[in-house]
Amino acid sequence: MVYRWGAYLQHRLLPSRCTLCLAPDSSGLNLCRDCRADLPWLIGGCPRCALPTSAPGQPCGACQRRPSGFDPGFDRTVTLFQYAPPIDHLVQRFKFGQGLHLARLFAALLAERLRDSTPPDCIIPVPLHPNRQRQRGFNQALEIARPLARQLGCPLDYHSCQRIRATPAQSQLSAAQRRRNLRGAFTLIRPLAVKHVALVDDVMTTGSTLEALADTLRAAGVEMIEAWVCARTLPGNAR
Ligand SMILES: [Zn+2]
Ligand SMILES: [Zn+2]
Repeated sequence: MVYRWGAYLQHRLLPSRCTLCLAPDSSGLNLCRDCRADLPWLIGGCPRCALPTSAPGQPCGACQRRPSGFDPGFDRTVTLFQYAPPIDHLVQRFKFGQGLHLARLFAALLAERLRDSTPPDCIIPVPLHPNRQRQRGFNQALEIARPLARQLGCPLDYHSCQRIRATPAQSQLSAAQRRRNLRGAFTLIRPLAVKHVALVDDVMTTGSTLEALADTLRAAGVEMIEAWVCARTLPGNAR
């Protein structure tokens, strides 16, 4: 792909600079130490949904009241950031194709966060509907999942699951409307012979997209489902 060559040439020919402040940077991630420290990291949230809790690392009240496997349909959420400045800006740049090198940064940071976790049997990026993927030219979830799978040494599966229903832009809808829209949005086109899967996406807003995909996998016999995302919208953060 053209952007890969562009990124490669840029990487080889230009001094490495921080994506945010443009200062020279030797971290290999294009993120200087000062900017990295200032990012809106989301740490110690609910292990199931990643929202902040009063007791760090403990399930939030809502997740404690829900039985395992139901709403959210995943067992664990791993996220790096709150969806807040400057991450929201970076994600938008990335999503609209102006910062595909950011996938490498997000993947490297997720791999760091996941270093001590039990690896899943496979990583599945959230599929885009084929029409949307054609318009965009790429699937942002796959762009993150590919280097992440390589770094973690996990198989990447982006063929088994497909999005069969296009859904209107979700950003203006309530959580309930999103969930209704997404019912039956995904399907498996071949059986999955795995028990533990990690789903990858760029942003978790209400979680309804990841839940719809998790429901599809759960119905196919997957027992442990994780959601790995770069950023999580907190209640009160505009999207
Ligand atoms: Zn910087
Ligand atoms: Zn929770």
